[in-house]
Amino acid sequence: MHPGAVSTPLSASSSVVANALTHQDGHGPTFPVVDPATEEVLADVADMNGSAALTALDNAVAAQQTWSATTPQQRSDVLMRAYTLMIQRTEDLALLMTLEMGKPLAESRGEVAYAAEFFRWFAGEAVRLDGGVMLAPDGQSRLIVTHRPVGPSLLITPWNFPLAMGTRKIGPALAAGCTCLVKPAEQTPLSMLALLGILREAGVPEGVVSVITTADPGTTMAPLLADPRVRKLSFTGSTEVGRYLLVQCAATVRRTSMELGGNAPFIVFDDADPDEAAAGALIAKMRNIGQACTAANRIYVQRGIAGPFTEALTAKMSALRMGRGTEQGVEVGPLIDPDAVSKADRLVTDARKRGATVRLGGEAPGGTGYFYPPSVLTDVPDDSDMMRTEIFAPVAAIASFETEEEVIARANDSEFGLVAYLYTNDTRRGWRVSEALETGMVGLNRPVVSTPAAPFGGVKQSGIGREGGFAGIEEFMETKYIGAAV
Ligand code: NAP
Repeated sequence: MHPGAVSTPLSASSSVVANALTHQDGHGPTFPVVDPATEEVLADVADMNGSAALTALDNAVAAQQTWSATTPQQRSDVLMRAYTLMIQRTEDLALLMTLEMGKPLAESRGEVAYAAEFFRWFAGEAVRLDGGVMLAPDGQSRLIVTHRPVGPSLLITPWNFPLAMGTRKIGPALAAGCTCLVKPAEQTPLSMLALLGILREAGVPEGVVSVITTADPGTTMAPLLADPRVRKLSFTGSTEVGRYLLVQCAATVRRTSMELGGNAPFIVFDDADPDEAAAGALIAKMRNIGQACTAANRIYVQRGIAGPFTEALTAKMSALRMGRGTEQGVEVGPLIDPDAVSKADRLVTDARKRGATVRLGGEAPGGTGYFYPPSVLTDVPDDSDMMRTEIFAPVAAIASFETEEEVIARANDSEFGLVAYLYTNDTRRGWRVSEALETGMVGLNRPVVSTPAAPFGGVKQSGIGREGGFAGIEEFMETKYIGAAV
């Protein structure tokens, strides 16, 4: 079977998968992609080995010079066509994403739009790559600064945002003039294969983007990680795997970007409106069924507002309808796999043992599908496991606090530093606390920070580098300086 080949009953109903199929066909080892709501196999996808991955790299290396020699306008036009095609195919892409990942259709549609926006944003950036010229301080030379594409890039993505985590890397890589190898998560490769079809249709030549599907990432990716021709690794995933990949990249002194795990504090001061803050917490917690690196993991509420806030959030959480993401009106789909359900169970049991109170949910329903209900826990102690690690489930962990200084210290007491949220009606406090929080991003009276125009990323063990904004494309460029005699 050729790289990324798929055989699937979906191909009959989904033009985007059919599109991917027209580019790849063959026979060989495969692995199944499962619908987490029904536990049924959706498709069998090619299980590529290290030698197939190296062939894809050969193609990327061969295409690098030609791709980087295209004009910025040509690269911009290709990305704009890809943007338009994604928007036109929203329904197909959203259905595919919901089937393989589980999120409700409305959220999948939102992700398609968000993912496509990275192509539109970087189509704009492609034609605005600037440099600089200045006279050296001694007046003897002109310092000319330009940028060059870093070269063939390996892009590794997680399952939780199957399209957006890809386009956030592919967009700037292509705009900068880099060829790329994309390795989607084993659990959600179909969306990426569909996107590959769209990129080809938009005019991306063979070899410029390849998708590597595998059920054995350690073995299949090892030859690529060891190969000095891979000049850049852009990774989104867990901190644990990120640490391992950083070590692998040390041998070839490869450029890396790391978008890793989070443990976001969501802070509500008692001068905030409890309903507005609860509505924000609902969004920050429940986006993607709680499976987002930006998910509100630790909800700290000032003592004076803890009662009304908890009541409002619990009422909103209990009103959510759980079910298969394809069904009308469903707001909470299944988790990605049985391990995610066991982890949620384990975290809730641990918090309970340490003195937390379960206000809502707190138990997996069992039966078919990897479901876990919206749950609310209060008085969750700081030393409970759910306050220290990513919950990655629809479980809201609430704790109370007394003072601003105290909550800043508790919020910063984490190895992670991706995002923090705070709700307050005191403007000066809003600025003060935003600056004191040790995170790459802050949502100030806002539950969502992601936008292609902003530099997304974390500090501490949440990552290195930024995606989106002006910074996103710099991750795929080398700076070159020419000192020219005057
Ligand atoms: P993961 O287990 O770290 O996997 C991420 C990707 O790395 C997958 O494609 C995985 O392949 C691959 N991988 C695993 N081991 C590898 C190896 N030895 N060599 C090369 N590739 C390897 O993370 P996940 O469970 O998919 O995603 C959830 C995590 O991602 C959470 O921690 C979340 O916070 C983080 N995340 C961060 C951001 C951000 O922007 N900071 C955004 C989204 C998610 P397989 O699927 O085949 O294992």
